[in-house]
This record gives sequence, structure tokens and C-alpha cells, in this order.
Amino acid sequence: MKYSKKLINEKTNCIKNIINDTIINKRISERFIDGLVDDSFIMQLLEMDDFDDIFSCANRINQYTHGKYVDIRGIIEFSNFCKRQCKYCGLNKNNKKASRYRMSVDEIVDVGVKAYEIGYKTVVLQSGEDPYYSREILGNIIKRIKSNAEIKITLSCGELDFESLKYLKKCGADRYLLKHETSDDRIYSLLHPCGNLSSRIKCLESLKLLNYETGSGFMIGLPNQTNTTIARDILLLKNLKCDMAGIGPFIPHPETELKEKEHGSIELTKRSVAITRILLPFANLPATTSLGVIDSDEKRNVFECGANVIMNKLTPQKYLKLYEIYPNDIETLEPKKERKKLEDYLLSIDRIPR
Ligand code: SF4
Repeated sequence: MKYSKKLINEKTNCIKNIINDTIINKRISERFIDGLVDDSFIMQLLEMDDFDDIFSCANRINQYTHGKYVDIRGIIEFSNFCKRQCKYCGLNKNNKKASRYRMSVDEIVDVGVKAYEIGYKTVVLQSGEDPYYSREILGNIIKRIKSNAEIKITLSCGELDFESLKYLKKCGADRYLLKHETSDDRIYSLLHPCGNLSSRIKCLESLKLLNYETGSGFMIGLPNQTNTTIARDILLLKNLKCDMAGIGPFIPHPETELKEKEHGSIELTKRSVAITRILLPFANLPATTSLGVIDSDEKRNVFECGANVIMNKLTPQKYLKLYEIYPNDIETLEPKKERKKLEDYLLSIDRIPR
């Protein structure tokens, strides 16, 4: 269904009023917003000529739910081995040019504990889908970090079965990131020869069932994606009740089948973040690294349109360049200096790092 311009304006004004009411009366009226929103409406919002009002709504609601705080997460990319063949990713197992590495358990624990010592409250353990790290090995890493540091642990190691997720939760894992990448079954199958959308969603549902803080997300600019696909991606985040959502532009990697494709639109990424913020007022929405890869100044804007989290790489220098889902020239300083640099940057844009 395509809404008339008049109806779009009425619905948008209604959402703005709900947000104003939320802020004035200090209560969130999510369910009223839910009743106004479907994929057609979101698609038409994404295509509006002037999006400023929606950015400002998203910024206001973010300030209401998270204040000026930006949470800095430390990310340790501990293995770039992957058994999958996702067609957009430089780590896919068909990329024979990738130099593969695995960090030892001691190395991972050491970086995790040091992250705590320099001020991180969350560390993200991320890898390709690498069966070398059994659930027992991952569980041991989690327990060792937790026994030496008061820090939340987010895992991002791909799809795991229910029993493994249950085991890792018992070992102390707090959160899990598993992007759905696209809500369109056909696009998903074309890009993922090794998986299907329904098992991805089942895994996300298992994570919610097991009380993980659950993160998903998707890419902007995938082949065959339309604005309706993006609208459905946003609704899927909402339907899954995601606690976190990473939305970033697709960036082509030269050693993949999609190497000739254009990167995704930054503007559309920011618009998607803003609408997601309105639909998921309390969720953690990171300024994704991929946005910074295209244009580092854009991160500033994404905080103004609803993002409240930033990831900082703690992967040791010798591995950093090898973890290449998409090409990046990210340089990092020694972890303590890098964190300080990021804190200074956040303070300079009137945000409070924590
Ligand atoms: S996107 Fe993830 S699962 Fe797919 S190839 Fe890359 S690292 Fe592996």
C-alpha cells in the first residue's frame, strides 16, 4: 500500500507528538508508535525529500533514553578463519589470499583483562565461524576473563546451536551479536551459500529465549535491495525485540564476487538508524566501523541521528590488518591512547564517553 503525502504527514506528525509527549511526560509510548508503522510507511519515510524532522526526533528520543552518553565497547577479533562463504565478506573461506590467524586463549584473556584495566565495561569477542574454538574453549575464555575483570562479554562468533549458546550463557556471556544482514529470503540465499534466513532468525530467537542481550543488524546497499527491503529489515529488528542493532553500509571487498559493486549509501544508513531509534528507543545502536571506513566524519552525524555506542578495536596490531571483512585502513594506537583519543573526540562533539 502506498500512502498519500497527506497521510504520511499526518502519521509523521503523530509520531512527533508521541515523542514530544514521551519526553515531556517521561514515559515511552512505543505501542502507539507501533500501531502507526508498517513497511510501506517506513519505505516512504526513507524516501522523504527532507528528513531533518525525523533525525531530530531520533536524536531527542536517544537523548531521552541514553542522555549524552556514548558507550565505548572494545572489540577483539580473535580469529579470521571462517567455514562460510558469504559473498560480501573478505573472510569467506574461498578467499585464498587472506592470511589466516587464531589468537591463543592466553592472548584473548590477556587483551580482555587489559581492556577492563583501561576502562572498558564491555568487551566483544568476535571471529569468523571457526569450529576450532569449541564451546568448551570459548567457555574457558569467558570464565577466565570474568574471574579477573568486572566486564560484560559480548560474543559475535556466528550461528551456534541452542545447547552451545546455553552453555556459553552459563559460563558468563552476557550478549550476542548476530546480524541478520537482510530480511529478504531471496537476497539472503543469493549471498549466503552456506546458510538460510530461517536458521539465522531461529538462532536470534534462541538468544532471546536464553536471556542474552541480543543484537542483530543489516547492511545498506546489498545487490537487489530496495527501500522496502530496508523497511522490512527495520521491522524485523523491532519484531525480534533486539537489544542492539548494527546498521552499516555494504563495502565491496576486492577478493569477493561483489568486488565491482558500489558501496551502500551513507545517507540511507543514517536514515535507517534514525527510524530504528524511534522504533527501538532503548536499544543500543552502534556507529558502525563501516560508516567510518567510508568517511570518518560521518560518525559524528550518526550520533546525532540516534546512535549511542561505538566499537573500538583492541585486536593486537599484528592481527589487525588481517581481519578484513571489508577493506579498511584503520590505524589504531596503543589501546590506552586509542581510548583516550576516542574519549576526547566524543567530548568534542558534546557527548559523554563511558
Ligand atoms: S560474514 Fe561472517 S560468517 Fe560470513 S564469511 Fe564473513 S566472517 Fe564468515
